[in-house]
Amino acid sequence: MERVLLRNTESPHSADIHEYIKGGGYISLHKAFEMKPFDVIDEVRRSGLRGRGGAGFPTGMKWSFAVADPQTPKYLICNADEGEPGTFKDRGILEKNPHLLIEGMVISAYAIEAAWGYIYLRGEYPRAKDVLLSAIKQAYEKNYLGDNILGKGVGFHLHVHCGAGAYICGEETALIESLEGKRGQPRIKPPFPVNEGFSLKPTIINNVETLANIPCIIEIGGDAYSKIGSPECPGPKLYSVSGHVKRPGVYELPMGVTLREIIYTHCGGILGDKKLKAVIPGGISTPVLTPDKIDCPMDFRNLPRVGSLLGSGAVIAFDETVDMVNVCLRITKFFEHESCGKCTPCREGVGWMRAIIERICGGAGRNGDLDHLMEVSSNILGKTFCPLGDSAATVVQSYLGNFRHEFEEKIKNR
Ligand code: SF4
Repeated sequence: MERVLLRNTESPHSADIHEYIKGGGYISLHKAFEMKPFDVIDEVRRSGLRGRGGAGFPTGMKWSFAVADPQTPKYLICNADEGEPGTFKDRGILEKNPHLLIEGMVISAYAIEAAWGYIYLRGEYPRAKDVLLSAIKQAYEKNYLGDNILGKGVGFHLHVHCGAGAYICGEETALIESLEGKRGQPRIKPPFPVNEGFSLKPTIINNVETLANIPCIIEIGGDAYSKIGSPECPGPKLYSVSGHVKRPGVYELPMGVTLREIIYTHCGGILGDKKLKAVIPGGISTPVLTPDKIDCPMDFRNLPRVGSLLGSGAVIAFDETVDMVNVCLRITKFFEHESCGKCTPCREGVGWMRAIIERICGGAGRNGDLDHLMEVSSNILGKTFCPLGDSAATVVQSYLGNFRHEFEEKIKNR
């Protein structure tokens, strides 16, 4: 497949606007300005693009909700708070192809008639911040941003806002709270941000990778785009691969490629030619899978059928030597640390799960601990304010379901 999201990024100057224009950049913006905003939305709807942040909501449909709301002004926010452990795919776009994101944002803002946009950037990405600020300055100089873009009477201004390290600010309503200068905690939904978002006005929040797909959709058309990758979830997809593979990194592949192809063809297999023991397909908040599931296509439809999720597309492979109870403990500690504390099942329950798993890992596991762990996780599931609590619970259940014998062995040998 021809590269779309990482096109021309081999060049050391790929973040420079001149290099980007030389490779065909900003042509889609010219094309979009020849269309009516509604037609741009229609093109995105026909492309079948689904949000790449994890939820997989159809992008064109989301935009049309905001447009249907008569309130003004409308805002566009790019969620660049890439904080999920194992996920570093958006960083590739932010640092190497920032003008693709800016072009995607200007087209999106034109479609939803937003005059202001924000990039909410992960605080731990200082290099991406410098690259983005420089790219935005160049875009203003070339009149791709400003009050009268390309002399077409369309205005759009873009700002970068850096987060302060809270994972929960990747959740869209917590992100908005943080952007408004408040403590980053999720809001109750509904109302959804498309109706009451930033400053309580209609707001579209899309992930970096989602917005970076927009120029390609306008360039080749929604129908042609819908034929890339799997029919139910079309388009190119970035996968960040880490763990025990020979060639970790960010790979641009069609949506629907299998885990086997990612691990064994593109990443060269498992380090030291050891056996694969387990794989996380979409970042640590997605349930772990065993090797018998790696022929499953990586998309929003198929992974749930084998008990996991596409999430952010962050693949983490574990070889046969890994202690999976310890992995479960590390992940649960992360969720406990990142819980914002707003609701009790998550604030208290995740800590309880961590305490039980830590006890088992420390050689003091008790008979009945696994039933207790299951009970606590079940009491978190479906009872929390935002998906963080649910993720913590389902992840623990997936480790218990797939590797129960390892937990039992630790308790037996205490
Ligand atoms: Fe905060 Fe956790 Fe409740 Fe989400 S589930 S609102 S992170 S306490």
